Amino acid sequence: MNAPMALRPDMLTPEGLLRWALDTWGDRLAFTTGLGMGGICLLHMARRWRDDITCAFLDTGFHFPESLQYAEDIAAYLGVRIVAIHPEPFGPTWRQDRLACCDHRKVAPLARALEGKRAWVNARRGDQGGLRQGIPFIERDAEGFIKINPLARVSRQWVQDYLDTHSIPRHPLLDRGYGSVGCAPCTRKLKPGEDERAGRLFAGDKTECGIHTRLRVKR
Ligand code: SF4
Repeated sequence: MNAPMALRPDMLTPEGLLRWALDTWGDRLAFTTGLGMGGICLLHMARRWRDDITCAFLDTGFHFPESLQYAEDIAAYLGVRIVAIHPEPFGPTWRQDRLACCDHRKVAPLARALEGKRAWVNARRGDQGGLRQGIPFIERDAEGFIKINPLARVSRQWVQDYLDTHSIPRHPLLDRGYGSVGCAPCTRKLKPGEDERAGRLFAGDKTECGIHTRLRVKR
């Protein structure tokens, strides 16, 4: 692994941060996607500099058929590998306990997928509100695992414009009333005026599934 390169102020753009992360961590930089617009932007950017981008997709077993088809289609379109990560068999479902279901189907499989990695690129934006409001460009947990947030300071409109500029198709359900698409039983269409993530349902009053709040990566 290379020592982290110095990060200059002029690198604090989505492209600049992503390029810096790729140059710094190489194969020990992980990509994941929930098939949202931001993650697709980042894969497109990364593909400009590397032709061997592999990205993990948490296949919980509860995705919309449209999501599974889009994962295949967008991987082919961008020229990246999207690899489905599955949970251990059985385990709790959303019917019994959403917190336990997310832990079993998202948090634990992702923790396993990130073992051996040093850093992780993700697509959260500060303007999504909730716990995402004010997220920094770079986070480091107690074990030293690093999260890179290249889209921390851009807006949903910026992301949409990026996709449009590069003629990149977005998830089809975003054109059918959904603001953000997760597992089918835990995603609903938006009501007028709601924030983009208001249609995502997690345990109790939680606004996150846990991969950004309860994940611990072994080093
Ligand atoms: S979002 Fe819903 S179905 Fe998906 S893992 Fe979490 S609780 Fe389970």
